[in-house]
Amino acid sequence: MDAPVKIGIIICDRYRTCAGGKCLRALRNREGAFARYRGKEVELVGFATCNGCPGGNIEYVPQEMKKNGAQVVHLATGMVVGYPPCPRIPYFTRFIREKYGLEVVVGTHPVPENYYQTHTNLGTWDAGVWKDLTAPTLTDEETRRSYD
Ligand code: SF4
Repeated sequence: MDAPVKIGIIICDRYRTCAGGKCLRALRNREGAFARYRGKEVELVGFATCNGCPGGNIEYVPQEMKKNGAQVVHLATGMVVGYPPCPRIPYFTRFIREKYGLEVVVGTHPVPENYYQTHTNLGTWDAGVWKDLTAPTLTDEETRRSYD
């Protein structure tokens, strides 16, 4: 069997008290942004918050994850669904790729349906950039409902 893909997860500090239940469930079920690992072994080698706006931990924690073997950093779904969503996601993505040479995936667990409805009504994700950023985690209505 192939070696496991090693990943790290960075969450929005607004959700720092989160126990990671949705992310870990989605990882186990290979749902949302983790669907890309279907049929593969995955090892979680790091989990941290951004440490609050403007995201000071983004400068450091990918290095620690890389030392632990991380190949991919996931920016958690909370960055996309928060009110408002994190405006720094594109910068974080470019920075981690450039500075550490790590692959970056935006999203972890599927977007919960209640967030999807509210953001749709607000028009939050109408701009083109958000269509790309939410694409890995929009999944389908049934799956989104199961993450409410
Ligand atoms: S909005 Fe962005 S920078 Fe601010 S706490 Fe959340 S992830 Fe960090």
